[in-house]
Amino acid sequence: MLAKRIDKLSESITIAITALAQELKAEGKDILSFSAGEPDFDTPRVIKDAAIDAINNGFTKYTAVDGIPAIKEAVAAKLKRDNGLTYEPNQIIINNGAKHSLFNLFSVTIEKGDEVIIPAPYWVTYPELVKYFDGTVVEIQTSDATAFKITPEQLKKALTPNTKMLILTTPSNPTGAVYSKEELTALAKVLEGTDVLVASDEMYEKLIYDGDFTSAAAVSEDMFKRTITINGLSKSVAMTGWRFGYMASHHTEIIKATKKLQSQSTSNINTMTQYAAIAGLDGSADEDIEMMRKEFIKRRDEAVELFNKIDGLSVLKPDGAFYLFVNIQEVSNDSLGFAKELLASKGVAVVPGVGFGSEGYFRFSFATGIATIREGIKRIDEFVQELK
Ligand code: PLP
Repeated sequence: MLAKRIDKLSESITIAITALAQELKAEGKDILSFSAGEPDFDTPRVIKDAAIDAINNGFTKYTAVDGIPAIKEAVAAKLKRDNGLTYEPNQIIINNGAKHSLFNLFSVTIEKGDEVIIPAPYWVTYPELVKYFDGTVVEIQTSDATAFKITPEQLKKALTPNTKMLILTTPSNPTGAVYSKEELTALAKVLEGTDVLVASDEMYEKLIYDGDFTSAAAVSEDMFKRTITINGLSKSVAMTGWRFGYMASHHTEIIKATKKLQSQSTSNINTMTQYAAIAGLDGSADEDIEMMRKEFIKRRDEAVELFNKIDGLSVLKPDGAFYLFVNIQEVSNDSLGFAKELLASKGVAVVPGVGFGSEGYFRFSFATGIATIREGIKRIDEFVQELK
C-alpha cells in the first residue's frame, strides 16, 4: 500500500521516550519533562492582537504563495537591520515554519549522489530529510572538548567533488553552541572556490546569552552568495503553533523553484499568521523577547551550576538556545537506555544524545519553570548516584 519513499524516513528516537512519558503520565505518575523544543512562554500580546486585527479586517483569504508584500518587506528589513544582509523581495519566501523551509530547500536542491555535510550533534530533522531526497549524509563529529563546533580542518577533510551543501546551525539545537564571526570566516575560507551551498539555520538567533550573533551569510560576499539563510519565529517569540518560517537566498532560482513547489503543495502559509508575524519581526515584540532571554539566562546559569555539581556528569555553558547537552560518559555510554531508565525510575524525561547523532549525552531543555528545573536535576542526581 505504501510507497517505498516513506521507508527512507525513520521515526525520531525521541518518540520512544515521549510515548513512555505519556504512558506513565496516564497512569497518574509524577512526570517532569525536559524534552520540549519550545518556549514555555505565551506568544506576545502585540502579535496576538495583530492576528485578531487581521481576522477582523477580513484578511482571511488566499495570499501570494510566497507571502504578502508586507511580510516579505518585514523579513527583508529584519535581515538588513539585525544581520546586515540585503535581500530583495524575490530572494525571500515565507514557509510553514523553518522545518518546511528546510524540506522545500532540500527538495529543490538535493538529488541522488549529492553529499550534505552535517555537523553532529545535529537537529534530528536534517539527516532524515537529506535521506528522503536521496542525498548522502556526511557527518562531522564534534564533542564538548571542541565546544561542539567543527573546525576548518574537519570541513576541508569532509569536502569531496560531490559535496552539495553544508548545514550550519547557530545557535545549535541540541548544544547551544554559537559560531563567532571569526569561526564562520575561517569555515567560509575553506569553501572558497567550490560551489558548495550553505544552509544556515538561525532559528535561535534571538536567544543569545554571551557574545554576539553573526549570520553565516554576513561574513563575506562569497559566503553571502552560497548561503541560504533560514529563520522563523517559533523560538524567538514563542510562535511554535503559528507556523512561520522563511528562507532567503541570493540565488533567485532557489526561491523561484521553492515557490513553484509550494504552489503545488501548501500554497501560502496561514494568512493571519503572516499579519501577526510582522509584529514579531519589526521590533514591536522586542521587550517580550528581552524578558524571555533574561529568564532563560537565569535558568541556564542555575541549571549549569547544579549539573556540574553532580558527581559523574558535566555540561558546558551554552551561549544560546534553551538546551543543555549533558555529558554522561562517566556513568553510561547508552544514552537511550539511560533516558528510558531515568524516566521509569525517577519520572524525568530527557532526550538521549544518540538521537542527535552523539552518544554519551542527553539533551535537557530549560524551557520550563525554575522550580521544575531544580526538582528535575535533583532527581537526575539521585539516579546517577544509584547507577554508580
Ligand atoms: N531548526 C532548528 C534548529 C530547530 O530546533 C527547529 C525546531 O525545533 C526548527 C528549525 C523548526 O522550527 P519551526 O518549523 O517551528 O519554524
